Amino acid sequence: MDKPITGMMIYYYMVCTRKLWYFYNSISMEQENENVKIGKALDEQSYAREDKHINIDDVINIDFIRSKGVLHEVKKSRKIEKAGIWQLKYYLYYLKQKGVGGIKGKIAYPLLKQTLEVDLTQDDENELAGMIEKIYEVVNDSLPPKAEKKAFCKACAYFDLCYI
Ligand code: SF4
Repeated sequence: MDKPITGMMIYYYMVCTRKLWYFYNSISMEQENENVKIGKALDEQSYAREDKHINIDDVINIDFIRSKGVLHEVKKSRKIEKAGIWQLKYYLYYLKQKGVGGIKGKIAYPLLKQTLEVDLTQDDENELAGMIEKIYEVVNDSLPPKAEKKAFCKACAYFDLCYI
């Protein structure tokens, strides 16, 4: 049976489908990666007084909800901003499917002291529905997609699996 799609899978789909395949198929090297450690430290230190780690159905794991009706996600940098935006749109989409609509999202970049507002349009919902279909096609393949060198490969936890 297919696993449910999580916000992180949407993020990885946008960043690298090979990474998505590894992640979905439970091949994990994340603990050793320095960028992940920085992300976790940020998560623990930033906005320490906010509610955080709201887990819904083990499908979406929202960093925190600062004020009523707004989901907040924390990111380290704006380097792969598009992926972070779609991850948060997916949270809004998933909640809407559960009957919780009218929620907005906000991405916080504490290191940059910046925030970005995110909302969900009908076009976004259509796009996400298509994305989910494509994600299942990728992850159910018996082999991962070929590695394609990207600027951020060196910072990726799976670098050794792809290139060594
Ligand atoms: S090292 Fe590059 S190609 Fe390999 S999974 Fe990571 S981002 Fe994808």
